[in-house]
Formats: sequence, C-alpha cells, structure tokens
Amino acid sequence: MALRLTVLGSGTIVPSQVRRATSLLLEGGGEDILLDCGPGALQSIEETGRSYRDIHRILLTHFHPDHTLDLGRLFSAIKNDTAVTGRHWIVIYGPEGLEDFVSGWGGLYGGIVPGDDMLNLVPMEPGYEIDIGDMLITAGQADHGGRPALAYRIDLSGRSIVYTGDTSYSERLAQFASGADLLVSECSFPDESPAEGHMTPAMVGEMAASAGAGEVLLVHMYPFFGETDPAAEVRRRFKGKVTTGRDGLIIEV
Ligand SMILES: [Zn+2]
Ligand SMILES: [Zn+2]
Repeated sequence: MALRLTVLGSGTIVPSQVRRATSLLLEGGGEDILLDCGPGALQSIEETGRSYRDIHRILLTHFHPDHTLDLGRLFSAIKNDTAVTGRHWIVIYGPEGLEDFVSGWGGLYGGIVPGDDMLNLVPMEPGYEIDIGDMLITAGQADHGGRPALAYRIDLSGRSIVYTGDTSYSERLAQFASGADLLVSECSFPDESPAEGHMTPAMVGEMAASAGAGEVLLVHMYPFFGETDPAAEVRRRFKGKVTTGRDGLIIEV
C-alpha cells in the first residue's frame, strides 16, 4: 500500500441523509492531505478517528461551496482550539483566483483568515507539479463550466490516484488520468438527466476506459439516482473494478 484514501464525503451541496459533500483524506509517505474541504469534511475526519489538527495541506479543485465551505470552520477552529499548540500552519493549493477567494473569508468573517506566517497559498495551473514528501502532485485541467477548475494526480512509489474534481467529460482529462491505478471521478447526475460541467455514469465509464485506469471510485453524486447504483452503468463501458463511494469508505492502492 502506497496511498490510502478515505472518503470523507461522497455527495454534493444538496443535503442528503447518507452523503456529505465530496472531500477526501489522502495519506501516503507520512503525509496527510485534504482533497477539497466541503461542509462536514472536518467533522468526518474526527469521525474516522483522526484529527483535523493533523491537516496542514489542502488541495482545492475549485471554489464552489460544496468543495470549500469548511475552510471557514478550519480557520476559526485553529484559533479557538486550545489543544492546538504552537502555530498551526496550513498550505492551500488551488486554481487561479485562490488569493481573492481566501481573502473573501476575511471580508465575511473579519479576522478569521490566518496571517501569512501561518497560511501559505499556492495558486496552481494545469501542468504544475509539486513535491510533498515523496509524493508528486500534478494539476490537470478540469472543465467545469469555464470557471477555474483543476483535477489532481498523485503519484507515490509507482502508484497513482487521479481525482477529477467537478468536470464534464474531456479526452484531455482522460489523457491526464492515463494509467492511474485509481480514478476518483465525480459522477453527478444520471444519464437520463445530464448537466453542463458534470459527468454521468456513462461518461465516467468512457473516461476510465480511455484512460486505461485500474479501478474507479465514484464520488460527488447528487441524490437523484434514487435506488439506482451508478456503478452498474459505468461497468457497461469499463471492465475494471468500480466502487460507488460512500462516506467513510477507505481504498488503498
Ligand atoms: Zn462545482
Ligand atoms: Zn461540486
């Protein structure tokens, strides 16, 4: 096992009895990294027996509230948590506009954004690479209605995970995910009711097959699938293992 992924939330901004908004905890090479920081992400970390205090790095795919709302909670928590000793530093990576987005939290809730000595913002663009410990993290271009949006690829010890973030189907993204051991893909809407900037199970299946991914984990599902398991339609187009994400699920690659 090189990389371990915990699904903190597998849903969207629409409240659900079973899915918090999509956020993921990635562990590998001694690093803990939060992929997106949607509402409920910090609570989910605590419920898995881990601590939000261990999170020092966050990769944001884009700025929609279902992927970012818990940032305000994090900023406030580290100021009010008497168990946080010393300075709690945070590095946030995200797409174009990151600085304006984060400073907006200060406008909303004056004074909650940590100072430059505790908070480091790293704007990313498609193609940018960063090393975190032995991990190589690469940003890719997602297509989410024309707004800045990234996918991320994480490589460690010959193993790889690609997280699409919110995106429509694109062959460019399939190429970015080429050969990934695990493709963590958004799967927002049923094929009968597709929406701009998002994918359906058939699209995910196409992308996984085109990428030659090892296996697929579905996340970011709106509560419109009813009793239908989106994985079934993905499997019609992709022959590898397909798992429908659920909150608390852990996958190791
Ligand atoms: Zn979005
Ligand atoms: Zn979303």
